[in-house]
Amino acid sequence: RAKRLLLSQLFQPLNLQGEAAGEGKAGEPTCRSQKLMLQAGLIHPSGPGCYHYLPPTVRAMEKLIKVMDEEMRAVGGQKLNMPSLGSAELWRASGRWDHMGPELFRLADRHGKNYCLAPTHEEAVTELVASQTNLSYKQLPLRLYQITRKFRDEPKPRFGLLRSREFYMKDMYTFDASEEAARQTYDLVCDAYRSLFDRLGLPFVKVRAATGSIGGTVSHEFQLPADVGEDRLVLCPDGHFAANVETLNEGQTTCPTCGKNLTQSRGIEVGHTFYLGTKYSSVSNAVFYSPDNKPQLAEMGCYGLGVTRILAASVEVLSTEDGIRWPSLIAPYQLCFIPPKKGSKEEEGAVVLERMYDDLGEALPHLAGDSVLDDRTQMTIGKRLKDANKLGYPYVVIAGKRVCEDPPVFEVWNQNAGEVLFLTKEGVIELLSKVQVP
Ligand SMILES: [Zn+2]
Repeated sequence: RAKRLLLSQLFQPLNLQGEAAGEGKAGEPTCRSQKLMLQAGLIHPSGPGCYHYLPPTVRAMEKLIKVMDEEMRAVGGQKLNMPSLGSAELWRASGRWDHMGPELFRLADRHGKNYCLAPTHEEAVTELVASQTNLSYKQLPLRLYQITRKFRDEPKPRFGLLRSREFYMKDMYTFDASEEAARQTYDLVCDAYRSLFDRLGLPFVKVRAATGSIGGTVSHEFQLPADVGEDRLVLCPDGHFAANVETLNEGQTTCPTCGKNLTQSRGIEVGHTFYLGTKYSSVSNAVFYSPDNKPQLAEMGCYGLGVTRILAASVEVLSTEDGIRWPSLIAPYQLCFIPPKKGSKEEEGAVVLERMYDDLGEALPHLAGDSVLDDRTQMTIGKRLKDANKLGYPYVVIAGKRVCEDPPVFEVWNQNAGEVLFLTKEGVIELLSKVQVP
């Protein structure tokens, strides 16, 4: 039998009533996801723009990474892991050592050699591919990606995991034999991003974007519309046109296709794609051999997804004012079981509920590690249900008044749908058999 996950034993310091530690000094800007994640024991501040990701957050992140891995593998992605220390030499060669300015964390080793803590890996991956001296056109396209910790010396870190100085990112780098092939890769990866956000149930818009410090000629951002977002977007009401304001020509206020007035909105950037051409491959001389055995520069693209930012942005856009809502697929725990209060009339129902918990784990093994038992039985069911609502478990199973009936009937809350069902054990298992975990 799987070990029961008792809420009282989980390292998730809850502060659901008042101000959470580290919520910021009075007057400092905050946002819904930051407040909720601090109160729910999901993150803990360690310094400006730096957070401990507490166990439930790591669970959500690992699930999100599994979904990303599936989507990246589906487009031929091969996962690797590159060093966080980027050599200054490489970054000077691309021009970004100076161009990045104070955003780049820099340090020197004991020999006086300079490094940065990498925010992205265009230089490193291009150097890696350039070192493969006999790369053939037959080995292309090459689509390499990693999911690692990145660093950026933000001038104003804020909004919790939405804008922090250390964060996780999924970054893919692609190498193709021609511009045409590289553009096909570009569309393919954009489709994979669409698929990811659809599976998470997140409303997103893909907008034309500026290429910024990465460079290249074509770029798009995937944005979640939200008032707290730091990007300003303009959208055609009929969906012909969507762009980051940065890319607009001065005075442009109408849709180039239909002429309707563009509407303004704010967004949280959760993904960014770039068609790079030969900007980096020409610096490192990353070449492949063509069918007539001539060396040619690889055509590149790079593609980022903010892993920790997607977690926070999901909480930001899906939650209510005081209750976290996760995309069901990546909720830290799918289920919470609430036994009766100690000393209440229904106390004997505790055993029935515990058996339900164990039987569910056996019937649906993929949910066994996803079920929490709220063993704080000194509290009423109502108080614990309120907490469960704030913490946002997709499903809550309660041993209420009808647990003493024969057969026992459980109260089941589907929190994302906002509905309550009364079900026997078989009914609960049937309902939850449809729940997916990555
Ligand atoms: Zn239009």
